[in-house]
Amino acid sequence: MVEVHLTVDAETIDVLMKLKILYDNEALPGFKAGWGFSALLCPNDGAILFDTGGDAVRLDFNARKLGVNKSKIKACFISHRHADHTGGLEWLDDKTEVFFPGEYNQSFDEIETLYFTEPFEEQALIYKKIMLIGCSHPGIVRIARVAFERFGKLKLIAGGMHLFGTPEYRIESIAMELRKFTDKIAPCHCTGEKGKRIFQNVFGSRFIDAKAGTVIF
Ligand SMILES: [Zn+2]
Ligand SMILES: [Zn+2]
Repeated sequence: MVEVHLTVDAETIDVLMKLKILYDNEALPGFKAGWGFSALLCPNDGAILFDTGGDAVRLDFNARKLGVNKSKIKACFISHRHADHTGGLEWLDDKTEVFFPGEYNQSFDEIETLYFTEPFEEQALIYKKIMLIGCSHPGIVRIARVAFERFGKLKLIAGGMHLFGTPEYRIESIAMELRKFTDKIAPCHCTGEKGKRIFQNVFGSRFIDAKAGTVIF
């Protein structure tokens, strides 16, 4: 099994047991890449899935390789209704509760969602100051600012930031802005290669290079 162990500070280890990237545009050797995103939060008891990637076959392949037992997934949050985030829904165990944007009623301890309706329904998930995002269609800076105003400075933002068509100077100012709202950043999916490179420059050692197969502790 290929695992990338990224070292974070003791406080983050305390709150974030493990975050496994199950589906992403890029993959570590031995994992399958595909356009889409899915990540699994693994606190002490049971796991929480965020998005399901673009298809069940690759999601299943990567999840097995990371030792994921899908019957332990108590809930799945779908960031928004785009096929690169809902494509693996059929993979889920029947018992897993699924929450589309606007449906969550704070029924799980310490899991919060931020709900946006523009340009269409999308939600971000927050677990103990770790924020997961799907495509960030409402705008990553806007989402992060709302999170910051509600929860204070975040420990980590992970997911798609939809910057693949954005000019470099804009991405740079977005990255600078995001530094105020989060300590660490793991841009994935539709952030794009150029975006990831710029985030790496701006965040330095607080940048996490995450792709399918990555396990963040
Ligand atoms: Zn997407
Ligand atoms: Zn999308």
